[in-house]
Amino acid sequence: MPAPSPARLTVDLDALAANYRAIAAEAAGVEVTPVVKADAYGLGATAVARRLHAEGARTFFVARLSEGEALRAGLGPARPGAIYVLDGLALAAPHRLRAAGLSPVLNDPADVEQWRAPAGVRPAPAALHVDTGMNRLGLTADQARALATHQPDLHVALLISHLACASEPEHPMNAQQLERFAEMRKLFPQARAGLANSGGAFLGGEHRFDFVRPGISLYGGGPFERPDVRIRAVATLDAPVLQVRDVAAGESVGYAAGFVASRAVRVATVGIGYADGVLRANSPAGAVWFAGARRPLLGRVSMDLLAVDVSDCPTVAVGDRVELFGPNLPLDDAAAAAGTIAYELLVRIGPRVERVYR
Ligand SMILES: *Cc1c(COP(=O)(O)O)cnc(C)c1O
Repeated sequence: MPAPSPARLTVDLDALAANYRAIAAEAAGVEVTPVVKADAYGLGATAVARRLHAEGARTFFVARLSEGEALRAGLGPARPGAIYVLDGLALAAPHRLRAAGLSPVLNDPADVEQWRAPAGVRPAPAALHVDTGMNRLGLTADQARALATHQPDLHVALLISHLACASEPEHPMNAQQLERFAEMRKLFPQARAGLANSGGAFLGGEHRFDFVRPGISLYGGGPFERPDVRIRAVATLDAPVLQVRDVAAGESVGYAAGFVASRAVRVATVGIGYADGVLRANSPAGAVWFAGARRPLLGRVSMDLLAVDVSDCPTVAVGDRVELFGPNLPLDDAAAAAGTIAYELLVRIGPRVERVYR
């Protein structure tokens, strides 16, 4: 019998493409500009961006200069497209971006001054980030107004802002930020405008503007931090059963005797732990999918192992695979059980986990 594969992350690129199309349909045809920062939320920026490019994506966002450099190399000369660096110029000199064929997101007046073209040189495109209430990055309304007069040495191709509460459709900040963004947009009529992340793309027509900028819903997270029928699972994390044991009533399982059996239980010890990105905060609410149902975790998640209650699974055997999240156990549910959000589950998947694309 061949040895079972270790903990494995399977990325379904067809599901990724389906989510891209679902978001495009939801956004009524405006451009979808994928956010592939943090290695496409841990799923592999090169593989993800190549597939999305094949689906028609031509504008990408990353957070860091290094991510942009890697993405430009990963796309290669055969796949042209714009890559915007959300960090702007705070940590990267303009020549570094130009050398890699990247465009900055200009987040404050210092960024703007650094990006101005010398006299006689055609200005290179940039995105301008205006703050509409999140107070994280972006020009204030006053700074934007001061900039809005004729600027021959700047090419503001895109105007962006970011929603603080898009995962809560009823939150009053969505309407307030929309109103502020619509005002600022009048200052830069030539720029194409984009406000919406995944949640924003599903908030309805007014939030769409000229393009939407999703991350998590491309990767299988619902736009409102819960499973959504329009979004398919892209990532499946699974791991093998390494041992099955019967534990008598009164015995405990794992570190700190975190689970004490009140009756006899059958326990599967599974080869995945917090070094692979399964959060310790899964104790006590966490579950996995196995043999057609959700099965509770028992006790603490260890670095390399966790324990699952398989008392109701008479046929469980070494090498069987349990699903931590995927098509049977939605990413958003797995995140909620660990007290976090889908984004964090994805980006925490450790380097030891084998990656498979299909
Ligand atoms: C991360 C990010 C996004 C994508 O957000 P999702 O909620 O993953 O869709 C969009 N815009 C900005 C500025 C971001 O930082």
